[in-house]
Amino acid sequence: MIIKSGGVKDSSPETVRIREVECRSLLNKSGLADYAVNCYSGCGHGCCYCYARFATRFSHSGEAWGGFVDVKINARTILEKEIKRRRVGRVFISSVCDGWQPAESRYGLSGQCLELLLRHGFPVTILTKSALILRDLDLLEGKPDVEIGVTVTTLNEEVRKLIEPGGAPAKDCFHVLEEARRRGIATYAFVGPLMPGLSDTEENLSGLLKEIKVAGAAYFYIDRLNLRFGVWPAVRTLLEKHYPHLLDGCRKVLFNAPDREAYTLRLTSMVRRIARKQGIEDRMMLCF
Ligand code: SF4
Repeated sequence: MIIKSGGVKDSSPETVRIREVECRSLLNKSGLADYAVNCYSGCGHGCCYCYARFATRFSHSGEAWGGFVDVKINARTILEKEIKRRRVGRVFISSVCDGWQPAESRYGLSGQCLELLLRHGFPVTILTKSALILRDLDLLEGKPDVEIGVTVTTLNEEVRKLIEPGGAPAKDCFHVLEEARRRGIATYAFVGPLMPGLSDTEENLSGLLKEIKVAGAAYFYIDRLNLRFGVWPAVRTLLEKHYPHLLDGCRKVLFNAPDREAYTLRLTSMVRRIARKQGIEDRMMLCF
């Protein structure tokens, strides 16, 4: 099955090939929490900086990240079996895809698994860049030990459409935070990975942190761009096409240790200053 994505010509696939598959496990151990649940392999959001594209080392080699999604159609059945055998622990949804990516509106698997986990008393941490999570706020309302996070990297829609073509605009993500908070659900934000010269500017970060404050997120992360499998070729291609003047600077930040160290110090100092100005420095967590 082929569906249209929010892809932008030349920077991401314009269609996403959907394939229904069966999985053997779903509730897997994770470094981000006790467990992670991923109902999809691949992600229709197709972010250029995505660390999850390492998955293409093992399958879908040669396919563009963002151009395929395998839907684990038996996810709920498998989770129902696993949940009975596992001790209760925090579950992160999702670690190598966005659980509320476009395919979720058709299949609803992350929502079904979320309902199951909550019914069995598993604490849940969600991270998404999709407003589709609003559909499932009813499930989370009134539940202890659940939290919703949104990833926001830029307020500039032109940039966002290039680097996160299938994701939601930042204003929609902030609306998710505000609505969740209004309904008593704990929220947080993830600001990153920041693209050197594009989304790590003082203007952009000042705007984002101001919105985070307004939305009332309990805490927020800041992350710089890191080299992971397949990230540099994707970033380089995008910069060559759309921002060639940023290419050399980005290359230095990623590949030259002294430049990277100096960049990290500059970024740290800048985000601390901005957060202090907004009065939210105590809510900030640096990932570097
Ligand atoms: S939403 Fe997350 S998992 Fe999906 S492509 Fe973007 S960074 Fe990767």
